Amino acid sequence: MERDEFDALLFRHAHELGATTLQGINVRNVIFEEGRAVGVRAAADDGWERDLFARVVVDASGRRCLLAKQLRMKQKDADFNQYSIWSWFRDVAPHPPGQEGMVFFHFLGLERAWAWHIPLRDGVSSIGVVTDKADFQKSGKTPEEFFDSLVARNRTFVHVMEGAKRTRPWWIEADYSYQMERVAGPGWLLVGDAFRFVDPIFSSGVDVALYSASFAHEAILRSWEEGREDAAFGDYERRVNEGVDVWYETTALFYQLQQLFGRFALQRDHRADVARSLQGNPYDPVNQARSRRLLSEMRSAYEEIISDPRNLLRPGALDPAGTRSSG
Ligand SMILES: Cc1cc2nc3c(=O)[nH]c(=O)nc-3n(C[C@H](O)[C@H](O)[C@H](O)COP(=O)(O)OP(=O)(O)OC[C@H]3O[C@@H](n4cnc5c(N)ncnc54)[C@H](O)[C@@H]3O)c2cc1C
Repeated sequence: MERDEFDALLFRHAHELGATTLQGINVRNVIFEEGRAVGVRAAADDGWERDLFARVVVDASGRRCLLAKQLRMKQKDADFNQYSIWSWFRDVAPHPPGQEGMVFFHFLGLERAWAWHIPLRDGVSSIGVVTDKADFQKSGKTPEEFFDSLVARNRTFVHVMEGAKRTRPWWIEADYSYQMERVAGPGWLLVGDAFRFVDPIFSSGVDVALYSASFAHEAILRSWEEGREDAAFGDYERRVNEGVDVWYETTALFYQLQQLFGRFALQRDHRADVARSLQGNPYDPVNQARSRRLLSEMRSAYEEIISDPRNLLRPGALDPAGTRSSG
């Protein structure tokens, strides 16, 4: 299911369960009284403006990070300074028989870079590239020229894009990995991208959004039962951060040595664990332990590769500081 249908389904479901739902409303800011979030100031284009009050404010404003910006607690990720450009295309080469509908990734032979090809409905595909922002800046190219130059780095990708026609404007995102100093406070919680964003290589975004929303719901109910927020909201913060840390560390390791994932995914001993880890829900203790075990084995393999100048994967490896290893 695609995002617009999925979002509409969630919205309708909330309405059917009795929630008051408003559309076309822009929340300007969260209202605080004596340090506690008590509601939001909302406005519409037609001049409608109102203060809406609530027992708890949950910020789900995505990468606009409304409350984190208001409280100045957004921390840009120092290690992932990524740049992404993408759009929707028609007439891309079809996937090979038997692989219709699958998501394809293309390696681009460039550090910290990759491309996605996601078939959508009606013959349209979402295709985009991610790279280090510095590589775009020093290229001196326009975003479109830069996109084309990345396509040209991979023969399969060239084949996919040969007859492609763009049907939407380009979307561009930069500096998009970040976390927050705090995830919850008196009367407020952050969920989804409003709480944290990790580079999307493993499609973790919707996993984070849905699980954090569900855990925020549990934390709010618990705080009402207990008559206090600090323990419930503190547990929420720990739980979501511990899970997203797994996504983050998996992503960081991928960028250190992209081929490692392909190698582990093909090994009989690890294939199931790789698949299970990438399916998501790293907040569950059993899943988290499995993913951490896998990460630890991958790190050992990475250390072995990086310390052996003759290892065939060594030229593709970045050292732990994220630079090309010498020797
Ligand atoms: C390049 C790229 C590729 C990605 N690929 C994938 C992928 O393949 N798979 C995956 O799972 N995730 C992917 N993601 C991440 C995914 O899009 C997000 O993690 C996910 O959409 C987060 O959901 P959300 O509900 O937190 O935020 P959003 O989906 O951004 O929703 C936030 C909503 O809040 C509304 N809003 C914002 N501010 C206000 C305001 N002031 N007042 C009222 N409403 C407001 C917005 O209009 C929007 O409707 C990708 C992200 C990027 C940048």
